[in-house]
Amino acid sequence: MKKHNFYAGPSILSEYTIKNTAAAVENFANTGLSLLEISHRSKEFIAVNDEAQELIKELLDIPSGYEVLFLGGGASLQFCMAPFNFLNKKASYLDTGVWASKAIKEAKFFGEVDVVASSKNKNYTYIPKDYTISAGSEYFHITTNNTIYGTELHEDPNVSIPLISDMSSDIFSRPVDVSKYELIYAGAQKNLAPAGVTLAIIRTDALGKVERPIPTMLNYQTHIDSKSMFNTPPVVAIYAALQTLKWYKEQGGIKALQKKNEVKAAILYDEIDRNKLFVGTAVPEDRSLMNVCFVLKEEYKELEADFANFAAAKGMVGIKGHRSVGGFRASLYNALPKSSVEALVETMKEFEQQH
Ligand SMILES: *Cc1c(COP(=O)(O)O)cnc(C)c1O
Repeated sequence: MKKHNFYAGPSILSEYTIKNTAAAVENFANTGLSLLEISHRSKEFIAVNDEAQELIKELLDIPSGYEVLFLGGGASLQFCMAPFNFLNKKASYLDTGVWASKAIKEAKFFGEVDVVASSKNKNYTYIPKDYTISAGSEYFHITTNNTIYGTELHEDPNVSIPLISDMSSDIFSRPVDVSKYELIYAGAQKNLAPAGVTLAIIRTDALGKVERPIPTMLNYQTHIDSKSMFNTPPVVAIYAALQTLKWYKEQGGIKALQKKNEVKAAILYDEIDRNKLFVGTAVPEDRSLMNVCFVLKEEYKELEADFANFAAAKGMVGIKGHRSVGGFRASLYNALPKSSVEALVETMKEFEQQH
């Protein structure tokens, strides 16, 4: 049976990515060696690394003065690395979920953190809009897509200080005005590659301004100077990332992907709003195009396990909500075809008819 992969991360990758990566595991760039056993310093792999970084610049329309890096440690290490490199005295953070809270916790090791607003009191079902950035803040940290709650900032905020953003789960899903950011970071395992590599996009002139010494591996400058080859990079994940990026270009680029994402999300949200059994959990204006969260209405709550089983029998994989939220979550990343969304909607309709 065809499986429809709605996992939140690691998550679906394009067939193009998987086929080409599998082929390179057998024979990488006609070297007669497997991608699993080549040197990261080989000229063939350096070409992969360079091409991937260049394609990211092209696809996201990154202005000059920025560097693209491939780092280790996941988005979680960026929660600490970002303030290590950018927070001198004070920074502002927006608390929109568990990931944002983890970023806040790490920043407090390095200076004063002003949490300008939080939606925690409503279990992060919306994105706060009324806040003021306090005087003296050096950057404003946001989480553009809140993977667990299905909320998303659909536009880059307008503030008078540089932005830093965790874009782990919506990078490459919409155009971004990179010039507003001094740092964008994203774990690759949602919209780019298998787990193991983390993308960082950095405005280089924003570096070197903190007074504290920074350990070598945690200093962005180290990785800029070595073109992300200071230590052994995750070769397979970077190769797969390049395939995904090529596929994105072939799909027509980020604007074209955004249009497809809007169509896919609308199909599912329309069904959630129409179906008598289900209700969406995020406020409509902040609904994420990447992670669609919904629950059974109060009066149908006892059907939760039944629906989970029913959907599994129809080939739906990974629609269980995050353990802190419950219910269901369908992740509609770039690589998920519209036909999978339609299959989920069909499943929800059939289940409704039985009750
Ligand atoms: C998945 C996710 C993370 C965690 O990423 P790791 O690479 O596992 O550290 C952080 N932030 C957001 C928004 C995420 O979706």
